[in-house]
Amino acid sequence: MLTGVLKEFGESNRCAPDFAPLALRYAGREILVGRGRGSESVWTMSMDSELQKHYALLLGVGSPWEVETVDLKMAEKKVEIALKWQWGSEAKCPECGRACSIHDCAPERTWRHLDTMQFTTLIRARTPRANCPEHGVKTMQVSWAAPQGRFTLMFERFAVEVLLASASISQACELLGLNWDTAQEIMRRAVERGLERRQLEGLKYLGMDEKSFKRGQSYITLLTDLEQSRVLDVVEERTTEAAGQVWNTLSSEQKQAVEAVAVDMWEPFIQTIEQQVPEADIVHDKFHVSKYLSEAVDKVRRAEHKELMAQGDETLKGSRQLWLYNPENFSVEQADEFSALKDLHLKVARAWAAKELFSKFWNYEGEVWARRFFKDWYGWVSRSRLKPLIEVARMLRRHLENLLTYLRHRITNAVTEGLNSKIQSLKAAARGFRSFGNYRTRILFFCGKLNLYPL
Ligand SMILES: [Zn+2]
Repeated sequence: MLTGVLKEFGESNRCAPDFAPLALRYAGREILVGRGRGSESVWTMSMDSELQKHYALLLGVGSPWEVETVDLKMAEKKVEIALKWQWGSEAKCPECGRACSIHDCAPERTWRHLDTMQFTTLIRARTPRANCPEHGVKTMQVSWAAPQGRFTLMFERFAVEVLLASASISQACELLGLNWDTAQEIMRRAVERGLERRQLEGLKYLGMDEKSFKRGQSYITLLTDLEQSRVLDVVEERTTEAAGQVWNTLSSEQKQAVEAVAVDMWEPFIQTIEQQVPEADIVHDKFHVSKYLSEAVDKVRRAEHKELMAQGDETLKGSRQLWLYNPENFSVEQADEFSALKDLHLKVARAWAAKELFSKFWNYEGEVWARRFFKDWYGWVSRSRLKPLIEVARMLRRHLENLLTYLRHRITNAVTEGLNSKIQSLKAAARGFRSFGNYRTRILFFCGKLNLYPL
């Protein structure tokens, strides 16, 4: 029984929707009725003004915006909130911020907002277009969304948090009810914001490293900040050109602050560092050196195992891990087995001993003793007749100066190695992904330590 006062609003409002609503007051409540073009009336929703206020608070919008209707679509599990600009309020020019008269309203747009309970919540509004004497007719910037965004800033903030906290991007997509492309777009914008805000002053120790991409067919080059354990940038390929590009993320002043760069003995990277940061020391990191030595030990083992098997000797069968893993992590059985093998005058045992011995190099405090140690170690290896090991020793001798720099800076790419598993999981998730750009976005989103939030 509607016996209340009938109040019509929006009559002179050029921003009002085509279906100008009527507000009916009934027992202290306002009820909105959408009035159709014809004689037929359409009920939008019955609600009270408290609910309008509640939604205005939830959205963080205030005067001159007001919540016009809240439309609950039960079957679609959706809440649609229509906002209206109060007629008579001036609109700000997005270019100069001047308060201008309103020319008209832009066509209606929809933004997705944080869900209300489990209801997808959408905001609809026609944004006023300011009539700026200087800039002409411009659509005003709304406070709840980025200029081209399809989501409210609060939704984007929440989406970023969910993406960061989820075990996988697909899990985040499921929780947020988004598809992959949309999630990617949210990440892209978040990274863009983060890069704009990023502080790169006082970078001292950097790392350059490569990672395989697309199942090992191609590579990417990473530049990392070793002190803050963050990826600074990523480029495709690992050529001199690519390695040069990755440095573009830093200004020349920022480069001047760099004291040392940890890097593998990879010629294009070395050349690039010499060009980009000529004052910085190059430090060949001990993890890569240890990897080369381990590979050499493994080559010696394989060759020797083959020789022994030809004579029906299975001594080295199944021993691969024992020669590669850190003895400190062995089980009791493995430790026994290994100590027996080590005493058998095998070539692989000598190779292993040479590798173990080299780890002492990193412990020297001063260069003089480290040089002396290296000379002895090199002499010993070159007389060992273990070809794979001799090759690694020669490579180390060629790069000795940049091994000694470690003693001054004590930096390694362990940070990059630590980020590796994360990047690896992103690669798995990015399988079938078309572009490198998406992959870069993901790496910077998860490993860039950027301020990603829109608010
Ligand atoms: Zn203007």
